[in-house]
Amino acid sequence: MRGVVMYGPGDVRVEEVEDARIVDSTDAVIRLAAACICGSDLWPYRGIDKLNGPAHMGHEYAGLVEQIGDDVVNVKVGDFVVGSFVASDNTCEICQAGYQSGCIHRVFMTGTQSELARIPHADGTLVPTPGIPDPELIPSLLAASDVLGTGWYAAVAAEAGPGKTIAVVGDGAVGLLAILAAKQLGAERIIAFSRHADRQVLAREFGATDIVEERGDEGVARIKEMTGGYGAHGVVEAVGTQESIWQAIHAARAGGRIGYVGIGHEVDLNGLDLFFEGVHLEGGPAPVRRFLPDLIQLIWDRKIDPGKVFDFTLPLSQAAEGYKAMDERRAIKVLLTV
Ligand SMILES: [Zn+2]
Repeated sequence: MRGVVMYGPGDVRVEEVEDARIVDSTDAVIRLAAACICGSDLWPYRGIDKLNGPAHMGHEYAGLVEQIGDDVVNVKVGDFVVGSFVASDNTCEICQAGYQSGCIHRVFMTGTQSELARIPHADGTLVPTPGIPDPELIPSLLAASDVLGTGWYAAVAAEAGPGKTIAVVGDGAVGLLAILAAKQLGAERIIAFSRHADRQVLAREFGATDIVEERGDEGVARIKEMTGGYGAHGVVEAVGTQESIWQAIHAARAGGRIGYVGIGHEVDLNGLDLFFEGVHLEGGPAPVRRFLPDLIQLIWDRKIDPGKVFDFTLPLSQAAEGYKAMDERRAIKVLLTV
């Protein structure tokens, strides 16, 4: 099968890789309906994360079950399924508490930018859709696998809800979908930090009521002005840099909630500064599996259209151009047809 392999910074190739196959009796193999590139794939692409040799890329997936291991009972061949970027058994105490990305048997997915993918813990990980989806639903179902589920988790962690003002730091796919989530969860006011005109349009379409173009201390000052000096009730952090995390913490009021889902890189949280902020911090790899059944239903019923974050589509064979477009911010998120 063909797969996307990253050899080093800026060096992405599409080549023949070993076919995905059943290894453990709890595995399934799926045929991808489409693949996509994640903002987090840019960390190694930009050389910020080091690779230990060539890496078969991709951790988001939706598609048809093609094979199942002997112990798989919850999905069958021919089901259309979506799963999280973290495979989980969905039975351990951590999973039962709704934190499946911390499952004691978790497996971080890789290798889904390809035609086939092996899914460990298939019974716990995969959620079948109500039927075979119409083609126009595929982008949204694929988004549910990570960026929608992650944005949703961040909005839940920020306690988005009726009467709440939620600020969102980061206008990539996750930040934009956190706006969609905050809206669905009933937030009264949703303030998006963004300085890109095209992303501001999508932010408003997803439910942002206000846009703030300033960043850092200036951005925080704007949020305070807009909220009577208090700060937001909750803030989503969807970038992962020193500046963005402090921007999120400072934009929240005392007692406020930060849902942090940007993968922190060289972030240093000074204990004394953090102490006097008095905020709640919840985040990390999102337990997407907790939300998948509801998200799939919302997509199926056409109540949400998270697939709009895909603004560039290429065949899998041109994945290198997709990485380049995302790196240069010419695309929010790239869909790869397989
Ligand atoms: Zn578990």
